[in-house]
Amino acid sequence: MARLSDKERQRMSDYILKVIPEPEEGTASVLVQKNKVPTYKGDGEDNYLCGKCKFTICEKIKHGQFVNIVFKCPNCESYNTI
Ligand SMILES: [Zn+2]
Repeated sequence: MARLSDKERQRMSDYILKVIPEPEEGTASVLVQKNKVPTYKGDGEDNYLCGKCKFTICEKIKHGQFVNIVFKCPNCESYNTI
């Protein structure tokens, strides 16, 4: 694959996650970050934002990297799914 130019590398996409009720214990994989920083930082091109407060829960995710995962927003404590 050709090397990306700087301009292409900056083409990030923001995705708003879907807020869901707290999953019952044992029914979902929940990632929790206690500090108010993104739960996950990678080197992909997608950002995942909390559906309630728009906090950046995941930064630079590779497209399709996470499936069937629930993120607890470190800012407003909502449960978000992809
Ligand atoms: Zn939030």
